Amino acid sequence: MITPTPLRAQRDSWQRELSQAIHDPAILLERLELPSTLLASASSGANLFPLRVTEHYLGLIEKGNPDDPLLRQVLPLDAENKQVPGFNADPVSDHLARQGPGLLKKYSGRVLVITTGACAIHCRYCFRREYPYAEENATRQWAKIPEHVAAMPDVSEVILSGGDPLTLSDRKLQELLAGLNQNPELKRLRIHSRIPSVLPSRITPQLIDIFENTRLHTSLVLHCNHARELDSTLDTALAALRRIGVTLLNQSVLLKGVNDSADTLAELSERLFEYGVLPYYLHALDPVSGAAHFKIPDQEAKRLHRQLRHRLPGYLVPRLVREIPERLSKTPLQ
Ligand SMILES: *Cc1c(COP(=O)(O)O)cnc(C)c1O
Ligand code: SF4
Repeated sequence: MITPTPLRAQRDSWQRELSQAIHDPAILLERLELPSTLLASASSGANLFPLRVTEHYLGLIEKGNPDDPLLRQVLPLDAENKQVPGFNADPVSDHLARQGPGLLKKYSGRVLVITTGACAIHCRYCFRREYPYAEENATRQWAKIPEHVAAMPDVSEVILSGGDPLTLSDRKLQELLAGLNQNPELKRLRIHSRIPSVLPSRITPQLIDIFENTRLHTSLVLHCNHARELDSTLDTALAALRRIGVTLLNQSVLLKGVNDSADTLAELSERLFEYGVLPYYLHALDPVSGAAHFKIPDQEAKRLHRQLRHRLPGYLVPRLVREIPERLSKTPLQ
């Protein structure tokens, strides 16, 4: 009998799970024991931005509850088709920061790479849901990224974003890091990813090796919006990253019906800390078309944030910010 090596088996398993993500609203409703009366709205929402959810994330959603906060993040709705004044396709003016295919530079010292358009999950509130990924990602010029970055001498940190950079193969990540390692000006590598909480099997021993073998100080910014997105599978994956000295941070988006209560936000911060992750940003929703039903008024956001400050140690209170085009940093709401 031929037994596959455990490492090989593990690599296959995340790629298989990714390729088997659920796209069909009817299957989602059936698996979650939800009424088929929700189907018309879900199908209509999915026409604009397809449904996509991994088996792992599906398993975290409570069955039979149409208001489940995790379900709300992935279930398409007819309401997404509504034109709402102030909501548009490029709410953070990414096009103004473009420095080449897939390279965005808004802030001093940092450059962001749109590595791919692919994600393991489609979040209905995503500010890049209408981003022109087909033309604007770095995939086709992969080998050139380190060169483009080196041409920007003030850059000491490269941020891999997307899409989700951890959907890339180990080979592509390795190739990129090998190039970036050569640049003496670069000190830090940052990866923004929703994968740890939606496809934890992606954190393989090979991936850990890749991060361990770069001289760049590496941080991973998770994207969790609710304490229930962190479960014991993730704990194991994060422990491996912590052991090799990767700094773990989290950013969330404040979303109506998902995490718009002080209890929910405090629980998220506490759970993150149990898993060795510090809360970094709590973002006000970017006004992207199709996401208006998630909006929280600023006054309410500030009130929630004040309550968090009163309840939690300072290091567990994320910075409440908004991205305003052409500012020199994210803007605190105060
Ligand atoms: C948000 C963002 C960053 C990172 O900002 P930090 O405040 O350092 O987290 C960098 N580049 C772009 C284009 C961004 O949108
Ligand atoms: S994983 Fe990130 S980039 Fe992808 S849909 Fe969700 S928020 Fe958007």
